[in-house]
Amino acid sequence: MAPFLNRRDLSFQLFEVLPTADLTTRPRFAEHSREVYEDVLNLAYSVAERYFANHAREADLHEPHVVEGKVVLPAAMRDAVRAFRDAGFFSAHHDEDLGGLQLPWVVMQAVQANFQAANVSTSGYPFLTIGNANLQRVFASPEQQRRYMLPLLEGRWFGTMALSEPHAGSGLADITTTATPRPDGSYALTGTKMWISGGEHELSENIVHLVLARIAGGPAGVRGISLFLVPRYRVNEDGTPGADNHVVLAGLNHKMGYRGTTNTLLNFGEGGETIGELVGEPGRGLAQMFHMMNEARIGVGMGAVMLGTAGYLESLAYARERRQGRHASQKDPAAPPVPIIEHADVRRLLLRQKVFVEGGLALGLYASLLVDDTQTGPQDGRADAGLLLDLLTPIVKSWPSRYSQEALSDAIQVMGGAGYTRDFNVEMYYRDNRLNPIHEGTEGIQGNDLLGRKLTQAGGRGLNILLGRMQADLNASEGLDGLDEIRAALRQAITWNTQALGTILPRAAELGPDLFLANANSALEMLGHTVVGWMWLRQAATAARALPGARADTDFYHGKLHAARFYATHELPKVRAHADLLASADRTTTDMHSEWF
Ligand SMILES: Cc1cc2nc3c(=O)[nH]c(=O)nc-3n(C[C@H](O)[C@H](O)[C@H](O)COP(=O)(O)OP(=O)(O)OC[C@H]3O[C@@H](n4cnc5c(N)ncnc54)[C@H](O)[C@@H]3O)c2cc1C
Repeated sequence: MAPFLNRRDLSFQLFEVLPTADLTTRPRFAEHSREVYEDVLNLAYSVAERYFANHAREADLHEPHVVEGKVVLPAAMRDAVRAFRDAGFFSAHHDEDLGGLQLPWVVMQAVQANFQAANVSTSGYPFLTIGNANLQRVFASPEQQRRYMLPLLEGRWFGTMALSEPHAGSGLADITTTATPRPDGSYALTGTKMWISGGEHELSENIVHLVLARIAGGPAGVRGISLFLVPRYRVNEDGTPGADNHVVLAGLNHKMGYRGTTNTLLNFGEGGETIGELVGEPGRGLAQMFHMMNEARIGVGMGAVMLGTAGYLESLAYARERRQGRHASQKDPAAPPVPIIEHADVRRLLLRQKVFVEGGLALGLYASLLVDDTQTGPQDGRADAGLLLDLLTPIVKSWPSRYSQEALSDAIQVMGGAGYTRDFNVEMYYRDNRLNPIHEGTEGIQGNDLLGRKLTQAGGRGLNILLGRMQADLNASEGLDGLDEIRAALRQAITWNTQALGTILPRAAELGPDLFLANANSALEMLGHTVVGWMWLRQAATAARALPGARADTDFYHGKLHAARFYATHELPKVRAHADLLASADRTTTDMHSEWF
């Protein structure tokens, strides 16, 4: 079996490109060392390999189904989540007095990457649980945290996020699930939630749903949305799960991929009261939920990267073994066929995968470190880190989701007919990843967010910080060997960006919101491709600095430099087309009439 993860690359990104080891100078991480982080990552890899990778295909082939009212999942999943719990990963980034290790978020994200690469659908259960607990840690009352969060940190109960409804996915302002106050201060919830991942299963003693609902009689739109903690089983005084809370499984969705994660249609208040507790203030639900969604958006981007990585590694191993055809210059029919990795077009397909997934990994971890910077970095840099993170989040979510799909298509292409069969995993990864541009805000919604909000947030300060950081890395890499193409191409791409944004942003009012946002996808593509170009500059500069003293790793570093060159010559020129379209305020899509399709 091909490896599902490039551990050398993960280590390169964390400890050579990013200053992860230096985090130990911050008081919260003072007890840590690089060795501690490496031990944790080694543990993650071994648990992922042994307990998660072993049933990824089984979970795909035998999707969740209901028998006598209970959701049935592969037995290996129970062992997997138990091993995850025993390793302490549910609480690893939390305070020591909550049973955690106080791991930095960037290390936690790298831990999670191991599981996403090994088995994306089984890892969905713990990751939803971790996200749910993180939200509670910020917004729930101490009593709520004691009751609902601690069992999540212990891995005894699992969590979900329940936002979407059958008629309200992208447009959450239109949700209708209703919360009616009860005399004791709790609420009775009624309504239907759609697409809820991990919404029903028997893997944990209880399930804690974080539910968006409207308090009866409240205002319409986003201001009327509040957040509720709604357990599957009501919680007894002693903290044990008690009576059924009437969150009824109305059906399972049958998905293209990610099949091991149950996906549910849930009815609240069917056959009895569904009782929930308000989290924080009424009307703050969506803002609070964004805490979980922003974290989840980085997680989705990283999940896409890891699926793309697993596919890349499988197709790479295949390309080294599979012999087919000869070089065009080889005229002797008796000469043995060459491994397909020898063919320029196969190398193109492999290089595309390499730049997409390793560029995406660099970006996902960079954003994860920004999360740490907002929480534990120097005080005077926290606000800037937050603004940059806000700006990058739609890109971190969307770019890998889209380009891992391209990478996985290329992985199938490298493997020819074999890649199209279920004898290999690439077709499964391809189906799994197709979810990523859809959930946690579709690509369309991310484009609107980037162009409509993030680029102009705080007077455009996030963009200025980004431009400043890119320029600083360009300056710092001056004179390094082997970086000419990537430096020149990135500089050019930045110019296209600033020209396009300098043209379109001042026209927002004149164009009006509909026309202004019409080409938001081009903004996402333009800035996304540029930011990943920056990530390749950073990787190439790190490799160039390491090469003179490297002994065993020279192939690895040469590979980084060459991949950066490929990104510069094959990918960064595409920025121009998006920049031109964006700057022109093109109206082709808005001028099209629905009747003309
Ligand atoms: C497998 C799976 C797991 C999921 N897990 C969860 C979960 O755990 N919890 C949860 O709450 N939800 C979950 N979701 C729901 C997911 O977040 C929604 O599917 C997603 O937000 C899109 O909503 P929708 O499916 O209703 O599509 P729609 O909102 O109907 O969108 C359809 C298309 O229209 C486009 N569109 C809609 N509005 C706009 C606009 N204003 N501008 C431009 N384009 C627009 C979209 O980009 C999309 O291309 C999950 C979905 C799936 C498929």
